[in-house]
Order: sequence, then structure tokens, then C-alpha cells
Amino acid sequence: MALWFEESASPGHRLQSKVLQQVYFAQSPYQTIEVIDTEEFGLSLVLDGIMQTTTRDEFIYHEMLAYVPIASHPAPRQILIIGGGDGGLARDVLKFSGVQELDLVEIDRMVVDAAKQFLPTHRVAFNDPRLTIHYEDGARYIQRASQSGKLYDIILVDSTDPEGEGPGKFLYTHAFHDDIYRALRPGGIYVQHTGAPFFNPEVLWDVSNDVVSLFAQCQVYWCTIPSYPGGLFTFTAGSKGPNVAIPQRPIDWPTSWYTPQIHRLAFELPPFLKKLLPASVRSQSIPNMGTP
Ligand code: SAM
Repeated sequence: MALWFEESASPGHRLQSKVLQQVYFAQSPYQTIEVIDTEEFGLSLVLDGIMQTTTRDEFIYHEMLAYVPIASHPAPRQILIIGGGDGGLARDVLKFSGVQELDLVEIDRMVVDAAKQFLPTHRVAFNDPRLTIHYEDGARYIQRASQSGKLYDIILVDSTDPEGEGPGKFLYTHAFHDDIYRALRPGGIYVQHTGAPFFNPEVLWDVSNDVVSLFAQCQVYWCTIPSYPGGLFTFTAGSKGPNVAIPQRPIDWPTSWYTPQIHRLAFELPPFLKKLLPASVRSQSIPNMGTP
């Protein structure tokens, strides 16, 4: 009998993928970790029963999280990723040769170990000398960084979702965003994924409401991700300077999703999505479709 991976983001909806085989399963101190091989999406990482990244469609999420801020910042040299233990986001950030230092703060060493062993498409980043992995809670790391004067040009949150009892919930608080703000240089950019608003509009509302209270600019952008329930997926960006809706430099290596046109279009919000935003964010989310 066929085995199916099933994920539900709402009691009235399920998304299923046919599983060819379970490649790895472990219980870490933080979460259950699974790697499954699926018929449609290939090798995929699942944490606490939630799909995190699949070989076949990960490029959409990772390119949009990495290249929107990289293309809109004038000279990003020091970048911080919080979460991201699968390595996919680090791999894409490091394709930009201007990056001198990439810190990745992952709470769960076993996720990195699983990615190194079972996700060949993601693990290439782990050999790059510009990457340093810190195994600790991102909330604690950023609190120390903000107190010690360590500064970054771009900070990206690539964590698990805030729902449930997983460690991701510490990364969706006001204290965390406040520390992020202080750990960014003038002109710095912050991006956090804010989930699928069709089913979980409160994540987008809460994060954007918090980011707009701290940053000079807060803008929301989106893409579609076939393997995540809810289809349409959002990111919330806070900027201390550059307009993140406007690419300033070409991304001049091959991409599979990102283009400067997609970059600008991603900030064009469907009316239903605008209605899900606090008024203070909505008023800022006006796309500027001018050429870079
Ligand atoms: N692309 C994914 C998504 O949106 O579903 C996220 C992938 S990545 C595997 C998420 C990582 O965030 C996990 O490995 C998890 O251990 C890590 N994480 C969760 N909470 C964390 C925290 N408080 N500090 C550092 N890493 C955390």
C-alpha cells in the first residue's frame, strides 16, 4: 500500500505527497527530524511533521529570501541567517561574491547533520570558508550580538513556524525583533518568512505589525510554493534605508525563480492580501515599479 505524507494547516484541508521511502528519522532534543523521498518533490526535510524544504521546489523560497534583500542592499558584506540548518539559504546567499562573512545560527545540530548526509542539493554551503555555524537559540544569539555591538548588513530568519511547541516560537516576539533592529547597521535589511496567509493570517499580521513599529520601512512580498499548504507564501521585510522593492544590482548567476521583474512584482499585493495587513503596513506596501 502506498505511503502518503500528509500536512494540514487547517482542520478542513490536507496536502498529501506520495512517499517512496523514509530515508531518515530521529528525535532531537528540539523536534522530530525526517528525510523522506517523495514522488513529486524528491528528497524532503520534515520537522515535527511539517514540510521544511524539498529538493524540487526549494529554489523558490530560498531565492526569494536571499536575493530580494541582497539585490536591494548597496553592499551587503556581513549576513546573518537564523535557523536555516538545511543549508539551502546559505548556499544561495554565498553565490553572491560580495559576502565576506555569513553567520548561521541553528539551534539543532542534528538538522545540519541530517542535511549534510541526506540533502546533496543543499549541503554545498557547509564547505564554504565564509560560513560559520553557531549551534544555539537564535533569540539568545541576537540578544548577545545586539549588546556586544556586532553588526550585520542583512539578517534573515529561516526558521520553523511559530505554531506549536517548536523552538521557532522564540523568533516571533517583539524582544527578538528589537534585538534584530539593534544588530543591523544603518541601511541594513531584515527579512523573515511570515507563512501562508490563506490559513495563518495572524503570523503575517503580528510580525508585520511589530516590524513596522521598529523599522523606517516595512514591506511585504510574496511567492507561491507548491509543497507548502496554502500556496501563496509571504515574507516581511524591515529596512533601515534601501527600498527593498527595488533591485539595485543584477543577480548575475543562474537562478530558477528570481529575476528583477519578479522582485518588483512580488511587492504588488493582491487586494485580499493587503486587507490582511495592519493599516500602518498597508500604507507602506505601495509597489514602485520603476526600473532600477
Ligand atoms: N524553509 C523552512 C520553512 O519555512 O519551513 C525553514 C527551514 S530550516 C530547516 C528551519 C530551522 O530553524 C530548523 O532547522 C530549526 O531547528 C531552526 N530553528 C527553529 N527555531 C530556532 C531558534 N530559536 N534558533 C535557531 N534555529 C531555530
